[in-house]
Amino acid sequence: METILEVSGLGKNFGGFTALSDVSLAVASGERLGLIGPNGSGKTTLINCISGALFNDAGSIRFNGEDVSRKPAHERTRLGIARSFQIPRPFASMTVLENLMVPFAYVCGISGKRARTEAREILGHMGLAEKADTQSNQLSQVELRKMELARAMAARPKLLVSDEAMAGLAGTEVDEVLKILRELNAQGITIIMIEHIMQAVMSFSQRVVCLDAGSIIADGTPEVVVKNPQVQRAYLGH
Ligand code: ADP
Ligand code: MG
Repeated sequence: METILEVSGLGKNFGGFTALSDVSLAVASGERLGLIGPNGSGKTTLINCISGALFNDAGSIRFNGEDVSRKPAHERTRLGIARSFQIPRPFASMTVLENLMVPFAYVCGISGKRARTEAREILGHMGLAEKADTQSNQLSQVELRKMELARAMAARPKLLVSDEAMAGLAGTEVDEVLKILRELNAQGITIIMIEHIMQAVMSFSQRVVCLDAGSIIADGTPEVVVKNPQVQRAYLGH
């Protein structure tokens, strides 16, 4: 299988604090990868470095063979890297449809009727068709999460990183979001799912990588990784 993302020897410091140290990870095109690790282990920082929200201090990030580690975030988005945010950041006073028009305009350079038609199509995939004209601050938690994914999809990504899209959701809502992520993957989109809900990680991922204190401590099938003593220790606390 072709490699879509290759992270090599990645390092990131905040002042004197090492948030990521020598992180190396290859993701195959079309893969469903689960990224786990206790709070503060560096998951969001890794995604910030991949998406360009932060610049890495060491190592490299190659996307489709191209070193993107010095490219600004919007260029990486154009190349096909999209992410949803752990804390949704909607334009609260805009409708759901208008929220999607923003990435359409700025990333794809399309607007007007064509953008609206495509936005409605994406909202349909997310089960949000009826909410298109609802102001986004009227949405429920699960609808907000879906809108976050819809906004990421408006950039037509090849790689989608979902950062705890299921946190705080009820069981049936978790299943709804999982179904959406599976469908997007079936369309050929590579997905990295960061998630604390272990059942969701286990059922979704073909492979799981576990971070602890900024380093990868396990990389393998979900079954093998959850049984890894180092992973179990990391979750129980040292
Ligand atoms: P996770 O997503 O796995 O919970 P994060 O990547 O958010 O972990 O954080 C990893 C570590 O880096 C934490 O100790 C956090 O406090 C620290 N950190 C994250 N972002 C910053 C920042 N912008 N400035 C300083 N420290 C940060
Ligand atoms: Mg995080």
